[in-house]
Amino acid sequence: MKNSYDVIVVGAGPGGSITAKTCAEAGLDVLLIEKRQEIGDPVRCAEGVGKEGLKRHIEPDNRWIAAEVKGSKILAPDGTEIKMSEEASSGKAGYTLERKVFDRALAQQAAMAGTEVMVKTRAIGLLRNNGMVRGINAMYMGETHEIRANIVIGADGVESKVGRWGGIDTSLKPGDIDTCAQFLVTNIDAGDYSKFYLGEIYTPGGYVWVFPKGKNTANVGLGILGSKAGNTRPISLLHKFIETYLPHAKILEMVVGGVPVSGPIKKTVTDGLMLVGDAARQSDPLTGGGIINAMDAGKMAGEVCIKAKEKGDYSAKTLKEYEDKWRATIGKELSKSLLVKNMLLKLSDEQLNQLAHSLEGVDTSKMALQKVLPILFKKNPRILWELRTLFV
Ligand SMILES: Cc1cc2nc3c(=O)[nH]c(=O)nc-3n(C[C@H](O)[C@H](O)[C@H](O)COP(=O)(O)OP(=O)(O)OC[C@H]3O[C@@H](n4cnc5c(N)ncnc54)[C@H](O)[C@@H]3O)c2cc1C
Repeated sequence: MKNSYDVIVVGAGPGGSITAKTCAEAGLDVLLIEKRQEIGDPVRCAEGVGKEGLKRHIEPDNRWIAAEVKGSKILAPDGTEIKMSEEASSGKAGYTLERKVFDRALAQQAAMAGTEVMVKTRAIGLLRNNGMVRGINAMYMGETHEIRANIVIGADGVESKVGRWGGIDTSLKPGDIDTCAQFLVTNIDAGDYSKFYLGEIYTPGGYVWVFPKGKNTANVGLGILGSKAGNTRPISLLHKFIETYLPHAKILEMVVGGVPVSGPIKKTVTDGLMLVGDAARQSDPLTGGGIINAMDAGKMAGEVCIKAKEKGDYSAKTLKEYEDKWRATIGKELSKSLLVKNMLLKLSDEQLNQLAHSLEGVDTSKMALQKVLPILFKKNPRILWELRTLFV
């Protein structure tokens, strides 16, 4: 480890590794640090991604694809099913990953492009000079190191501290976070569709997912919106779901974690600092999916690092190009999802059933979600009135 780099990336998740790779490929001197001793482990994810988004960053590889799914099924509280193909799921369903291997493959790409990777290295603070962020303090093997850089990337996930250290408000209220629990289960018929169960009957303010990870195995999990949780523990609800709907399931692994569902935050750059992925609250407020958004944002952040280096200007004014770019793309989608999420939160289980029934006789299996929503809206204008801005 040297004591100075062009770019230091904190966190070797998908967002951090893609940022590092993008910068290193352009010849920038990059350090990628990860506090854990193994990149990608322990997993805190249901591992579902769309094929299209994934292929923008890496060629699919059987080493880290656990299962390929045909699409998704949305189940209303009374069991009514809406089936959508992979394309119809807006590219949001496609593969279930093996993230332990996937995250490492992304970090490997970054390393092969020239990034220096340090594991078991934790950022513990930022270095500053005249108000500019100019590097980090890092802890490695019990010793503190000052490492300088022109740009620091905070890709340190949902519990991000880098943004806060840089004076960026990344705080989340209880209604901005889903608390999740998941089991990897076997001895079930996992099918070949990702399943989403909606309604209070399953979980308050979230949903249950069943993502196939092979013939008899699946990630089965649920999230509870913080503001609706009360004394309910996600793990208890999950046990209840499994006992009721998958009584023969055998549990192999457990995952707990939080997903930011706030939608876009006000600011993600400051002088010498950019935030990427969950650290920038870029996960989808409706689905909680954040892998592809983190990678897309990482690419954008990396490209802006390259331009900043060419200009020799690392001020917030130059880095703002990243902020503008992600807001115009990812940000727009997040805002739409937030609108849908907030509306869904107000619906009773009865209304959710009504929406599902209104699609009876409509073949959604080959439709894009963008086509399904207007049909739902037309058939249920009173229930879905708040979404009208999406269709005009
Ligand atoms: C239960 C659950 C299920 C989910 N399911 C899905 C899903 O199916 N599909 C999907 O797309 N998304 C899913 N997500 C969300 C997804 O996991 C995240 O959006 C994604 O991992 C974000 O990537 P990232 O690179 O921003 O952060 P992360 O992947 O969280 O990576 C951040 C990294 O930073 C490291 N780090 C943190 N602090 C420091 C520090 N101080 N110094 C050094 N390193 C540090 C962490 O150890 C971590 O490795 C799920 C999340 C949860 C909790």
